Amino acid sequence: MPRFNHPPFAYRTPPELSGAPPRLAPVIIVGAGPIGLAAAIDLALHGIASIVLDDNDVVSVGSRAICWAKRTLEIFDRLGIGEVMVAKGVTWQVGRVYRGAAELYHFDLLPEPGHKMPAFVNLQQYHVEMALVERASAFPDLIDLRWKNRVTALAQSGQGVSVEVTTPDGCYRLAAPWLIAADGARSSLRAMVGLDFAGQAFEERFLIVDVEMAAEFPAERLFWFDPTFHPGQSALLHKQPDNLWRIDLQLGPDADSEAEKQPDRVIARLRAIIGERPFEIDWMSVYTFQCRRLARFVHDRVIFAGDSAHVVSPFGARGGNGGVQDVDNLCWKLAAVIKDEAPVALLETYNEERVAAADENIRHSARATSFMTPHGAGAEALRQAALDLSAQRAFGRRFVNPGRLSSPSSLSGLSLQTPAVAEGGVEPGSACPDAPLRGLDGGPTWLLQQLGGSFRLLACQGASAPAVPGLGVLRIGQDVLDEQRLFAARYGQGLVYLIRPDQHIAARWTHPSAEEIAAALSRARALTRASAVPPPAAAKPDIDTDRLHDRADDVYSALITALKHAPPAEVARLLARMTLALANLAGDADAAIATIQSVAQDQSPLS
Ligand SMILES: Cc1cc2nc3c(=O)[nH]c(=O)nc-3n(C[C@H](O)[C@H](O)[C@H](O)COP(=O)(O)OP(=O)(O)OC[C@H]3O[C@@H](n4cnc5c(N)ncnc54)[C@H](O)[C@@H]3O)c2cc1C
Repeated sequence: MPRFNHPPFAYRTPPELSGAPPRLAPVIIVGAGPIGLAAAIDLALHGIASIVLDDNDVVSVGSRAICWAKRTLEIFDRLGIGEVMVAKGVTWQVGRVYRGAAELYHFDLLPEPGHKMPAFVNLQQYHVEMALVERASAFPDLIDLRWKNRVTALAQSGQGVSVEVTTPDGCYRLAAPWLIAADGARSSLRAMVGLDFAGQAFEERFLIVDVEMAAEFPAERLFWFDPTFHPGQSALLHKQPDNLWRIDLQLGPDADSEAEKQPDRVIARLRAIIGERPFEIDWMSVYTFQCRRLARFVHDRVIFAGDSAHVVSPFGARGGNGGVQDVDNLCWKLAAVIKDEAPVALLETYNEERVAAADENIRHSARATSFMTPHGAGAEALRQAALDLSAQRAFGRRFVNPGRLSSPSSLSGLSLQTPAVAEGGVEPGSACPDAPLRGLDGGPTWLLQQLGGSFRLLACQGASAPAVPGLGVLRIGQDVLDEQRLFAARYGQGLVYLIRPDQHIAARWTHPSAEEIAAALSRARALTRASAVPPPAAAKPDIDTDRLHDRADDVYSALITALKHAPPAEVARLLARMTLALANLAGDADAAIATIQSVAQDQSPLS
């Protein structure tokens, strides 16, 4: 019996059908999931009205996304629901990785103090959507949220988009200059625009269960390889509010989804983990997942964001978090274009920046999956070797991949950022790290709160920032005080930063002139064309050089000695362990990768 009862939102006959004066808005948003709702709020904060159409009248059924990362929480804080999320959710920052019953290692995602938002908050997606709906209601003139309004057809011209909408009262047509497609992983708008959703489907099946129980497990991410309660597979446990626990169990590629959902089967699996304590199943599903993305996110007047644009596995919590970061990147740009403050070309940089981020998320997600589900003897030996090493050596942990958790992707080297000349501080392209400050009224405040959602200059202590028309300046030491010196530790001294409305750094200088700042601002608004700086081509490592000289025989002898007593079945695993250790010793990832690839290519069927 689900704990959350999903109150339905009121359907109202839209003005187009009731005869009331129709509302006009520059943006139609399709989908009132977390991404569509966040986009409506962000646009409203920029003074832009939207009509949000959703085919349903309740928030997400099933908890789905529960892990919300620091950067997402900071964005939600800017949108006005960050504090609600922290108050309602379970805050955590430590993850533990087990093999069997033994802890291999643990990690802390936010070991330093002085951040308003925690490393992660666990909060069910339905609570997040409820908070977003509540927040959206604070903008009655700017957000027109229409439940039970399904978009069934779409057409666009060079000037705008028109959609056909089906409601309980019949159909109507709605037009606007822009449309954000936030209609989720099964997006029908993708098909309406005729787009391919290319990528990879994984066969591995997972059982996901939300269990209500009184339990004393810590508020940490607990991940097991080969747990005693679920041998040969992996398992994940997360705490949620309301005495709910998320349990994820890998089932293998051949599991029968229907059989696995049978209560007897699920209860037996849960009993193995939680023993005899009383519990109730709140929600359950068996899922497989895919890593896919659209080739482009911007299609003339239709812009895709969230799951409609890209999907990943839940390991690493990159789906919903990635989507919220799409919104953060898109809305100030769309608002600037609508207000005629920037050219349409600015939207192309949404495509550039968020496609790169989606690729990063897909890469992490696919790698975590191949670690969790090794195919073939070689992959299995390598995984065992990494797990062996991680128990014995700190460097081994780097090779273990139980899901790399969502972190903001850097925009460094992309079109809008001006490459930095000055040394030190935070790199252009990075999301601004937060820092505690004190206002001149004596009250505590935070850097991100002070930066807000528009272009700002940020002048560190000892820096002078010349005035640039229309650009506000936040001067540390004058407008706000850095009493704890944590701002200085993160941002340096004597530096001036140009901060984008999505709180990423667009440029960094010492002693910039007003002209330099104005040029960087123009570039960050795509008013001046600047081509992306191509990343420096990596020098190809020369793997044929004899680096061991006359010590090669010594190394060879050491290898023979090490392998001498290894039982045949263990040889591959031991060699894999040595390979990882030597790659770590090389300390040059490109050289290590080139060496591995080159040696693998040499392998002929006869060798
Ligand atoms: C089991 C599971 C666990 C997850 N865990 C995490 C996690 O811990 N952290 C994380 O960041 N992410 C997680 N995710 C991913 C996260 O749930 C998604 O990334 C997120 O829901 C995407 O939001 P969205 O708004 O893009 O799409 P959705 O949430 O799918 O919302 C789309 C909305 O569009 C509406 N819609 C669809 N078609 C139409 C139409 N034609 N007309 C009108 N409305 C329409 C739908 O009714 C829906 O309300 C998880 C996902 C799953 C399945």
